[in-house]
Amino acid sequence: MLAEITAAISGARGALDLTKGIASLAAEYGIKERTIDLQTQILSLISQLIEIQTRVATLTQENVDIRRELENMLQWERDVVPRYELIELAKGVYAYKLRNIPVDLEHNGEPAHHVCYGCYQKRRKAVLQFSGYDCRGAKLTCNECGETIINHADKPPSVGPISVPRRDPFSGY
Ligand SMILES: [Zn+2]
Repeated sequence: MLAEITAAISGARGALDLTKGIASLAAEYGIKERTIDLQTQILSLISQLIEIQTRVATLTQENVDIRRELENMLQWERDVVPRYELIELAKGVYAYKLRNIPVDLEHNGEPAHHVCYGCYQKRRKAVLQFSGYDCRGAKLTCNECGETIINHADKPPSVGPISVPRRDPFSGY
């Protein structure tokens, strides 16, 4: 389409050059005047064709972008969505967890992991990385968006069950 428009512009410019030759040769005033009118019309045609060329180029680029976006969306729906499920990792803390699918031979060797909730909504698969413990639990960080969530269900190893020393009922101590 763009190539055809470019050819049309080139043809119109060629016609314009021809009229310049005629104008210089023509002695008669009427011919000269009509030739100038013709030149004006050809120039207007060239400018319209250039405008169409620009619009077609814009539409072509938009089409490429939409196709790419659609392909990404279909790939996400096909390859990622069936393999993850939304879970409540701890109270009020959400992440997507890799499903345990025995028939998923292609990805069978993949270790258990979680992906970031926020990034998942933007169709980005960002695996949450363990980044240490704080007093509330294990910290899981998304290297894509910088979000850190706390897995309250995974306590630091040093925090065991709280032991209350028993008093000796006889001595009172
Ligand atoms: Zn993220």
